[in-house]
Formats: sequence, C-alpha cells, structure tokens
Amino acid sequence: IKAALPVPNQPSEVTELANSFNDLLAAINEHAVQEREFISNAAHELRTPIAAIRGHVRLIERRGTEHPEIIPKSVQFIDEESTRMQKLVNSLLTLSRADRGTLTLAYFDLAEAINETVEEERAVLQQPIQVVGEDAAIVFGNAESVQQILTALIDNAGKYSPEDHPITVALGTTDRTAEIRVQDLGLGVADADKTHIFERFYRVDSARTRQIGGTGLGLAIVAQLVKLNHATIKVVDNQPQGSQFVLTFRDKTANGKSS
Ligand code: ADP
Repeated sequence: IKAALPVPNQPSEVTELANSFNDLLAAINEHAVQEREFISNAAHELRTPIAAIRGHVRLIERRGTEHPEIIPKSVQFIDEESTRMQKLVNSLLTLSRADRGTLTLAYFDLAEAINETVEEERAVLQQPIQVVGEDAAIVFGNAESVQQILTALIDNAGKYSPEDHPITVALGTTDRTAEIRVQDLGLGVADADKTHIFERFYRVDSARTRQIGGTGLGLAIVAQLVKLNHATIKVVDNQPQGSQFVLTFRDKTANGKSS
C-alpha cells in the first residue's frame, strides 16, 4: 500500500485522523519492506552453502574415481556446510515461533535459571564462567526462554572472546528490578553497531562471523524472547574491555512474594 491521505491545512479532527491513518500506513509499509528484506536475506544465506555443497558433489562425481584422495576433504566440507544450513533453518524456525508466539509466564528465580544455564555452558565453552551477585531474584517471566536467552548470550561471549578470558554472569537487584549482566573480555561492540546487532541477519563483520559459525539470527531471537518476557535488553561496554549484555526485568517481587 503506497498512497497516503491528503492532510487538510486547517487543524481539525479530520487532520488528526488523516495523520494517524498516514502513520499507520507508513508502519505497514515499513513492515512489508522489512519482511521482503528478511526473506531475501534468508534465501541468500541458504544459497551460499547450497552452492558450496553442489560444487563438491560435482567435484566428487567428476574426479572422485580417478583421484579418491579428494573425497574425504569434500565430504568434510559438505558436512560443515550442511551443518550450517541446519543451524540456520533451526534459527529461522525458532524465530518464526517466537514471532507468532506468546509464552506462559510465572514467577521463577533468575538465580536458578543462571545456575542451570552456566552449568551446561561450562561443559561447552573453553572460557571459565563465573557467577557473581545476588543469589536469588524472583521475577515474572518464562524460565525456559530466559535460559535460552542466557545460552545465546553466553555462547556469543564465548565466540567473541579469547579462550582464556573469563566470562562473568552477574545478577543484580534494586527494589523493583532485577538485572542479569553477561560480561566478556573480548572484541566488544562498537557504538555504531550497538543498536543494530539485535536486527535480523546483522553481523558486525560477516566474513569473520561466518567463519566463527554465526547465523546473524541469535540476537534477533534473543530480542524477540526478551519482548515476550516483558523484559528489556541492551549492550554496553564492559570494563576494562569487551561487551556487557544487560537483561532487565522490571517487576521483581519483594522477597519472592507477588507484589
Ligand atoms: P551471530 O550468529 O553472527 O553471532 P548474533 O545475532 O548472535 O549473530 O550476533 C550479531 C552480531 O553481534 C555478531 O555477528 C557479532 O558481530 C556481534 N556480537 C554478538 N555478541 C557479541 C559479543 N559478546 N562480543 C562482541 N560482538 C558480539
């Protein structure tokens, strides 16, 4: 939809109505543009590994009999690229579920969610992970999705920081809020990228993150899950270096009781 309503010069209810209508129209158009961009990005991201896989299949077909020594390398390549595709498709499905979905919300302890997630991540990551701060904070949200959010943030902290630099997960509270900070001592996020990294397919350095194995959808999924939890998320600089993802819940309960 492109055409906007002409707005009368004299301020009146009609002017206001025309303005609201035009704002709505602009929002719908913007949404449509984003949707098209998203589909085109997704297709592009899938096309790259598919082309690579087909290339190696052809190579094996043409030269495999005469030069069987090329086969293991091609098979490994096909394996890696298909794993990439699988990750991407899984992320797309998770995102589309999160887009459509609502979550069942209940009171739960953020400290427990942190401990469970960190225990799993310790088995996966090279970096030591330390947990600091409060040892309980009851909030209203969805525990499982908060664990999913933390897993994504800790995975990223691991991906974008050296292997011997510790990752810290800090739980802080005020009267009404509870806050989890996932801190790393890695590359950090430049100011110009801070608002964009939660966008779908946004990558600060696509060649590099492709190598690291990122899809550019991790933080977009995080943003959507955060929204469904009625929480907020932002990235700030960590001291002395690296980044800090701050997840804030605004309706913490007093002493674990509903307020
Ligand atoms: P990806 O799958 O590429 O990691 P994400 O959506 O998870 O995608 O992250 C988007 C981009 O944000 C990444 O490509 C990376 O450049 C940046 N980023 C995310 N987490 C961190 C971090 N902890 N430190 C530095 N950069 C980060």
